[in-house]
Amino acid sequence: MSIKIGEFIHPTSVEEALKYKGKPNVMFVAGSTAVGKVESINVKKMVNLLTLPLAFVEKEGNIIRIGATTPLDDVENSPAIKKYLPILIDAVRHVGAWGIKTMATMGGAVATAFPWSDVIPALLVLDASLTISRRGGRLTLSMEEFISKRISMLKSCIIEYIEIEIPQTTNWGFEKYAHSSFDIAMLNIAYLKTEDNLRVAVGARPGIAKRLKNFEKHRDILEGVKEAELKDDARASKWWREQVLSSRLKELVS
Ligand SMILES: Cc1cc2nc3c(=O)[nH]c(=O)nc-3n(C[C@H](O)[C@H](O)[C@H](O)COP(=O)(O)OP(=O)(O)OC[C@H]3O[C@@H](n4cnc5c(N)ncnc54)[C@H](O)[C@@H]3O)c2cc1C
Repeated sequence: MSIKIGEFIHPTSVEEALKYKGKPNVMFVAGSTAVGKVESINVKKMVNLLTLPLAFVEKEGNIIRIGATTPLDDVENSPAIKKYLPILIDAVRHVGAWGIKTMATMGGAVATAFPWSDVIPALLVLDASLTISRRGGRLTLSMEEFISKRISMLKSCIIEYIEIEIPQTTNWGFEKYAHSSFDIAMLNIAYLKTEDNLRVAVGARPGIAKRLKNFEKHRDILEGVKEAELKDDARASKWWREQVLSSRLKELVS
């Protein structure tokens, strides 16, 4: 891998970092764990998002706010998240190796929205919203909206924080199916259940995680499996994914 970086920029405010958005030959990084996927780097400027004041977890009323540069390891060890959002703790606990969690950030996990992400399915069932900044100002949008517009948005935006309303239920679950505890998922499933509401998200389909909104409404197993649009990849077959999802959905509605 060849790496050529002209200058490192360490912005101390989101406004300062935004000045580099949309400029040619500029790369933005937070925990930098996704850099390993790049074959070579040849940029004039590399902007370090970790110097932004966005590493925090705070509670305001029934809302938990997680800053974008908060490392996954800090999320896992946050007393507020342990108490109010245990499903997120469970999802982060399933992320590969410990070393990765000390570097990878919440903002990085959301921005990359890798299909294998363990964080995205949990954020989807938690109905998380994102506050992002661009030169024209701030914007708040749902995780689902962000996922669909992500590629174009990231050209001009910086994710500032994630907000989650504390769910009024203890009936939730996160499951990751992988070849080993270090490996990425072959399938992951998150759910959150209240008396009259069920939310289910499926990741590593092998596409980006999605909510099964028709299934949530009609509770029809076949419809749910179809809605997940499962496919084959090197890690698992479509057939295997369908069997696992179908049996889990059955348990959820029984
Ligand atoms: C070996 C390995 C195993 C892994 N296993 C798992 C796993 O099992 N489960 C799992 O969920 N994850 C796993 N991950 C982590 C995941 O794949 C991503 O690498 C990680 O979430 C990216 O976070 P980061 O902070 O390092 O992002 P970076 O690598 O720093 O950045 C990635 C991209 O996101 C953009 N970005 C970052 N922060 C922001 C922001 N605030 N606003 C706008 N854009 C931003 C950057 O500009 C860049 O384009 C693994 C990673 C590695 C390397």
